[in-house]
Amino acid sequence: MLGLMQQWPLLCHKILDNAAVQHGKREIVSRSCEGPIVRTSYAELRQRSLKVAQRLERDGFKTGDRIATLAWNTARHLEAWYGIMGIGAVYHTLNPRLFPEQIVWIMNHAEDQAVFVDLTFVPLIEKIAGAVKSLKKIIVLTDKEHMPATSLPNAVAYEEWMADADGDFQWASVDENTAAGMCYTSGTTGDPKGVLYSHRSNVLHAMIAAMPDAMGISSRDVVLPVVPMFHANAWGLGQSGPMIGAKMVMPGGKMDGASIYELLDTEQVSFTAAVPTVWLMLLQYLEETGKKLPYLKKVVIGGSACPRAITQKFQDNYDVQVIHAWGMTEMSPLGTLGTLKPEYAGLTGDALLDVQQTQGFAPFGVEMKVTDDNNNTHPWDGKTFGRLKVRGPAVASAYYGGAGAEQFDEDGWFDTGDVAHIDPNGYMQITDRAKDVIKSGGEWISTIELENLAVGHPDVAEAAAIGIRHSKWDERPLLVVVKKPGKDPSRDDILGFMDGKIARWWMPDDVAFVAEIPHTATGKIQKSALRAQFRDYRLP
Ligand code: ADP
Repeated sequence: MLGLMQQWPLLCHKILDNAAVQHGKREIVSRSCEGPIVRTSYAELRQRSLKVAQRLERDGFKTGDRIATLAWNTARHLEAWYGIMGIGAVYHTLNPRLFPEQIVWIMNHAEDQAVFVDLTFVPLIEKIAGAVKSLKKIIVLTDKEHMPATSLPNAVAYEEWMADADGDFQWASVDENTAAGMCYTSGTTGDPKGVLYSHRSNVLHAMIAAMPDAMGISSRDVVLPVVPMFHANAWGLGQSGPMIGAKMVMPGGKMDGASIYELLDTEQVSFTAAVPTVWLMLLQYLEETGKKLPYLKKVVIGGSACPRAITQKFQDNYDVQVIHAWGMTEMSPLGTLGTLKPEYAGLTGDALLDVQQTQGFAPFGVEMKVTDDNNNTHPWDGKTFGRLKVRGPAVASAYYGGAGAEQFDEDGWFDTGDVAHIDPNGYMQITDRAKDVIKSGGEWISTIELENLAVGHPDVAEAAAIGIRHSKWDERPLLVVVKKPGKDPSRDDILGFMDGKIARWWMPDDVAFVAEIPHTATGKIQKSALRAQFRDYRLP
């Protein structure tokens, strides 16, 4: 027997409709690419998104078309998202930090029909547009006055393009499972893979993300997504912010410590989110200037493991709660968040920091398990680590075009490629990427644990552990280290510092010093490049 409740499809534009009705005057503040801080409201944002939709439809774009964005976090980028989804088309965020040839590959694979592009990236698009066969239109997110002279055919200034639409438009009435958004993983191995979000998965993810034990945001919050909209949907904040009616502060292209501080302070931001590197820059700025964070209450940190020192400084020096989170593009992206269950709520000092070094627990809507290579489930004992697998309504069921099919099993589990353990209270801790873990004598050594330990040495700026071929043990760990400026630690200083803090057989066999460690477009250590660099390295 079926229930007798209404069919109310979970469509993204309903988020914006509700924001305009319930929170119409709430501000969206952006640092524009032209320079000044500009302000709009949810009511206005909805009206302009309707114009974008109307204009796209008039230009002949239709349901299912992929329409790219190459832009920073601004209100205009949000308008483009909602306008694109509003005709049933698919917003496709491009990461400008990728190599131009990777962007071309991705755009061709997605067959993008048009692109909304920030002023900053016009030179990049000029370079690559000719190589993207499907591209019909380039909409530069600016007004007529700031429109640069460009060699691009089919380029228009956004404001001018939109000006002859009146916004009298009906959002497309599509099935909730219709594709809404698209984002490619950066593809540190092999070609990038496309993740295709649906309206339903976006709406459910936005609800999950806002819950008190997840990000925990409300209409009383002022939300600053520093994490870019092109990095896994700004971790869902472009949807959960409007859903709960928070004031939004969009940082544009400036993410240095001083610029972020200025927004945190002048807009009285209470909640923000970004990768650890951003927070290192902010903390350094605060230390240099002696400034404080009187308004900020919570910061979500993820994308790579959050160093203990960042958590400690935010909490002890600035009274800001840190939520360490893990996720991936394939998960929309939130997977786990480190808010405190009652079991851990009373902790202080090191015991609290220990829990916050884990990536937290999965909210409703994310199931997770850890298995061995033969799919046998490991106990949640906080130490047995294995492959981390997930499933849920905002987790990918396949990649666009069918790549990577081996990561999905018949029971619906997605193999994340991460290696982790889970404690009896459900707190998960990443110990490695499956492809990075060091296999020594049939046992696994966690490279992340070695790295976290090594960066605790006062003279070490950055460290990466990789496996080096070994005749007896298969692989043994090599620690690659970047020294802090002006410091000169020796191999023995560093190994001596690590000794006794990990199992003996985990100790690196050697330390190699380098000027720089290679990073991916999303700021992660590029282990594949490092392994290539040390392919012929001989351990002592
Ligand atoms: P990309 O590799 O394209 O940057 P994602 O941004 O989706 O892809 O990154 C997902 C991966 O980032 C995860 O599978 C995990 O390895 C890593 N990651 C994300 N958050 C954390 C975290 N808090 N701690 C450790 N690793 C993390």
